[in-house]
Amino acid sequence: MVVLLALACFAGGFLAISTLLRRLSWRRQIRFRAEPIPSGWFDILDRCVPLARGLAADERERLLRLAQVFLAEKHVEGCGGLVVTEEMRVTIAAEACLLLLHLEGPCYPTLRTVLIYPHAFVPKLARAPQTGEIVMPAGPLSGQSWRNGVVVLAWDDVVNGARDVADGHNVVLHEFAHQLDQEDGTPDGMPVLVSGALRTWARVLSEEYERLRDDAVAMRPSALDAYGATDKAEFFAVATETFFERPARLVREHAGLYAELKRFYGQDPARWAPPAAS
Ligand SMILES: [Zn+2]
Repeated sequence: MVVLLALACFAGGFLAISTLLRRLSWRRQIRFRAEPIPSGWFDILDRCVPLARGLAADERERLLRLAQVFLAEKHVEGCGGLVVTEEMRVTIAAEACLLLLHLEGPCYPTLRTVLIYPHAFVPKLARAPQTGEIVMPAGPLSGQSWRNGVVVLAWDDVVNGARDVADGHNVVLHEFAHQLDQEDGTPDGMPVLVSGALRTWARVLSEEYERLRDDAVAMRPSALDAYGATDKAEFFAVATETFFERPARLVREHAGLYAELKRFYGQDPARWAPPAAS
């Protein structure tokens, strides 16, 4: 899932400053909806988001509260003839909000729209995030994250990614990690971090990125998918998928990276009960 950007992007600098200030100043809790969680949502969570089974009861409720905010604020639309159901909306919102479960600040403030195709899709036109070069993917995509407030997902890949909680592949976690990364206007593997975390984060993720590049060139097996060696933005997205879906292996083989992700997300999936197998 190469990060492909629409032609009409925000001016990165202003967005970077405004979003950073907003995130830094928003120490309050997110404002949840007054209405109760719809009665069927816990069942959807149980059936469609196996990763959430490792959460404590209060975390599951918080996750669905976040999903309520997400679905109230974002426009979700089917494409290619897809009729979006409540199950699709709640599944995607819950998986997206899993990343936010213990993060301070707003709910994907730069995101406006989620587009869902029934199957992998081919974008009509796109640009590479760093160079602006027009690029076309080698094949159909399962997801995209645009800086101008759009995430695109293929529903069958969402289902497949959610079903297997131990393969390290989850397109929703991947694309919404990109959204976190892009909140400051620059897709560079550096999401908005809490004060004091920047230096260690930059060092550890750079070292781990270079390690994955070396592993990919040498075709050495890694807990991290080799796609993460594409660039630092993809590395953060792939590392996020691995953190939630292969936490035990990530702890064993990349303890420093796991520790940084644990500090950033405020979560410790390796200790979830039952643990996500890896
Ligand atoms: Zn990506």
